[in-house]
Parts: sequence; structure tokens; C-alpha cells
Amino acid sequence: MKKVCVLYHPNTLMHVTDFTRPWMESFESPQRIILTLNFLRESELVREGKIEIAEGRKAEFEDIKRVHHPYIYHVIDELSKMGKGVVGELSYVSGGTLKASLAAAGTAIKAGELVVKGKYAQGFALVRPPGHHSGIAHAEGLCFFNNVAVMVRYLQEKLGVKRIMIVDWDAHPSDGTSQIFYDDNTVLVVSFHEYDFEHGERGGIQEIGYGVGEGYNINVPLPLGVAEDCYLDVFVNFVEPLAKSFNPDLIVVSAGFDAHFADPVGNLNLRSRTFFRLSGEILRIAKRVCGSRIVFVLEGGYNLLALPLSVSAVLYSLTGVEVEFYDDIGVFKTPSKKKRKINETVNELKKILSKYWKNF
Ligand SMILES: [Zn+2]
Repeated sequence: MKKVCVLYHPNTLMHVTDFTRPWMESFESPQRIILTLNFLRESELVREGKIEIAEGRKAEFEDIKRVHHPYIYHVIDELSKMGKGVVGELSYVSGGTLKASLAAAGTAIKAGELVVKGKYAQGFALVRPPGHHSGIAHAEGLCFFNNVAVMVRYLQEKLGVKRIMIVDWDAHPSDGTSQIFYDDNTVLVVSFHEYDFEHGERGGIQEIGYGVGEGYNINVPLPLGVAEDCYLDVFVNFVEPLAKSFNPDLIVVSAGFDAHFADPVGNLNLRSRTFFRLSGEILRIAKRVCGSRIVFVLEGGYNLLALPLSVSAVLYSLTGVEVEFYDDIGVFKTPSKKKRKINETVNELKKILSKYWKNF
């Protein structure tokens, strides 16, 4: 039986921005990867050979250019040489940022390649810095190159993959990824994220795509504080019918874990068990539509205890191993007032989607 591969590259540790907030460690730190890897290596997943941990690779300028304006690459390159700088809002550059970003994008590419070529059942690119807030000509929100988008374009151009569905369960909107594929009907982007309904922001239901891509960009905004009881239903109710109608060759998960209740950045109330269940649902759907081909790419997730646990939850789920998580006790309930807002949003969104997709 084919295994699940976790890919990692040591250069991803070279991006270090402690200097931006000298009074505390930057929450997007190399420790995220180091501790997650340590946790996996100590687990039965590795001990019993359920997963393999392999080295990723570096992306080339050519790979980045398929998605981003060359300007972004050159700015990151120059600032990295200077050892310090800001390329966009909350995207601080250090001496190792270019190398780390190329390794993150390249490792995502390799994960995609291995799964598409059938070497592994599923892949997990354990990479940083994250990528989903970076668009065609801008970097922001701790991101530099959009790792998922760079992988998607590589797979389409080099391996002839036609349709790819991106599911983003990071607590924040996939705004960079959405912008990149906004007028594209070969890539379906579905993002689940917390949302300020009072003030509005990026990631609202009205952002539906443009031109031939109209209907191929879907935002599922959720009120702050949503927990597993509502999240799972909403997730399946959108991902399943969309996947069946779109019929992708591959599903890519922009896998951020800052929707965990203990995360210092996100405001949702999921737990490791939720990621176990979400992965189970994605796998069930992928079995029906794309021969179980799924690639997970790490996005956010900043609690250094919750992140390793949540990543392992995905891998336990994919490999069919039942375990108990020590945060299983963290059972939150979605307040009823928020449930009403969710129902309202879901109904409105389904109405919009019915114009483009059957089953809604
Ligand atoms: Zn996030």
C-alpha cells in the first residue's frame, strides 16, 4: 500500500524575524517546523512506518515567475542580501528569507509531483514561511511566495494536470490564492475563514471570481468563535457538492492550523480532533473524485503545542490510525446567535452558487 509522505527542507528554517519584535519571539518561527518534525518522529506514525519523512527541494526563479511578478522575487532577493527589510504588510525579510521561501515553494512542488506521479498516496509539505496571502505582485501577512499557487501552476504546466481544487481551512481568507486564480476556471478555490461581518473585509461571499473564473472562487466566511459542531457541517456541505461537480484531478489543502482554539492569532474554536475529521472527509471525497490524490501544504498555525498535534491529526486520519489527542477535552460549542448568522450566510452563498453549480 502506498504511504503518506511528509516533506521538509532545512532551508525553511533560515527565515528568522525575531528582530521585528525584539520583546518576543516572532510567532511565525522556525520552531513551528522543528517541533512538529520532532513530534512526528517520536510518534507511532514514523515508528510503525505509516508515513515517510523525506527532504523537499528548492524552487527556481522560473517556478516563481509562473505565478508572481518578477518584481516580488527581486525585492525579496535584494532585501535578503541586505539582511533586513519589509516587502509587504507583516512580511518582514531576514537574511535567509529568499532561501527559505524558495525551499517552501519547491517543497510544495515536490509534494505535488510525488502524489501526481503516484509515488505516494498523499503528501504533506511541512513548509514555512506560509504563502496564501501573497498575490501576483504583492506579499503580505507573513507570506512571500504563494507556495500552493506555485505548485498548482507547476503541476499544470509540467505534468499536464488539468483541474485542481484548493480547499483552504486556515483561519484567514485565501486572499492571495484567490487573486492569483480569480479569472481561471481550471482552479477552484474554496476558503473557510473567520470574518468580521460588521465591518466587512476581504473574503466575503460576493467575491466569486471574474470572467471565465466567475463561480470558481468561493469564500465561506464564519463568525468568530465558531466550533467543530458547526464547522464540520458547513465544510462538508460546500466541499462535497463542489468537488463532485468540478471533478478535479487533484485536491490541494491550504492547511493552516490557526483555527485551533489555543492559537494566538486565529479566533475560531477548532481542536486537533476537528482536523482529524476534516481530513477524513476530504479523503472520503477525494476517493470518489480524484483517486485519493491530496496534497496538504502548511499555512498558519502558531501555538507550538497545538500545531504539532494538529498536523499529526491530519496524518493519523489519512493513515487510518485512531488515537486520542490531549486536546480532545477542548470541546467548544458554537453560540446560538452565531449559528443563526452561519445559517443566514450559508443560505445566501448557496443562492449565489446555484447560478454556477448544480447541487446548490
Ligand atoms: Zn492564518
